[in-house]
Amino acid sequence: MLNKSGNIQTFIGCDAAYNDANVVIFGAPYDSTTSNRPGTRFAAAAIRNDSWGLETYSPYQDLDLEDAQIYDAGELELPFGRPCPALDMIEAATTQILADGKKPLMIGGEHLVTLGAVRAIAKKHPDLRIIHLDAHTDLRQDYLGESLSHATVLRRCHDILGDGRIYQFGVRSGTKEEFAWAAKGHTHLQKFNMNGLVEIVESLGDAPVYFTLDLDVLDPSAFPGTGTPEAGGISFMDLLGVIKLLKQLNVVGCDVVELAPNYDTSGVSTAVACKVIRELLLAIGDCGASPQ
Ligand code: MN
Ligand code: MN
Repeated sequence: MLNKSGNIQTFIGCDAAYNDANVVIFGAPYDSTTSNRPGTRFAAAAIRNDSWGLETYSPYQDLDLEDAQIYDAGELELPFGRPCPALDMIEAATTQILADGKKPLMIGGEHLVTLGAVRAIAKKHPDLRIIHLDAHTDLRQDYLGESLSHATVLRRCHDILGDGRIYQFGVRSGTKEEFAWAAKGHTHLQKFNMNGLVEIVESLGDAPVYFTLDLDVLDPSAFPGTGTPEAGGISFMDLLGVIKLLKQLNVVGCDVVELAPNYDTSGVSTAVACKVIRELLLAIGDCGASPQ
């Protein structure tokens, strides 16, 4: 059940009442199918805690979280080791947020949690598109015999949306078969970088878009705190450029996944995730220009 009655610790600047909010944050602390190093279940709590080291004001966007109406619902209580009921609970929470006329921003958790949100959003928006940033393809048909995994999540989203609706960027790891499958037109897959995203954003017009951000798209030098780090990633400033482009789109929901805070004892990865989420909230929230 989604907590609508006030959360004790929120992401900084996200203390609106539920009814007043236009964006709702919730954590999905689930990491049972992580293939390499688990620990993403701790991400949302770590992000909330460390967000208090941030300013609410973004000099990049000249916007302030204090001017936004954002509610932080805290963590969903998800069953460990049982992906089906966990995804059902994420879908139910997302459905509720959409029914109340608000946008969800989910903090994972491993990438599989995206499937629960996409199930809910695709029911409301059958013409949904997904913009997916990731080091990994996540297009396996199954992984170690499991169809529900963080290595299969975008393939499961494709099962719902069909060909040509998923735009993947920054990908630099996957099987030969996954890259070949994408190249047949099932998804748009841009290897290594963000090239072509501007043109795709322009082509999407008012189409509803879900933005799923696997933080391992960042270079491990900037973001080592993740289960499956992959050399050769993008910079924070590259990612900020993508987030600012989202302002041109009809973003109906988003998520930020795959921070595993305990692999980076410096705390830098969590700090990066906090700043990314601040910028994302300001880009998708209706907070207007801040007073000069
Ligand atoms: Mn992923
Ligand atoms: Mn990944």
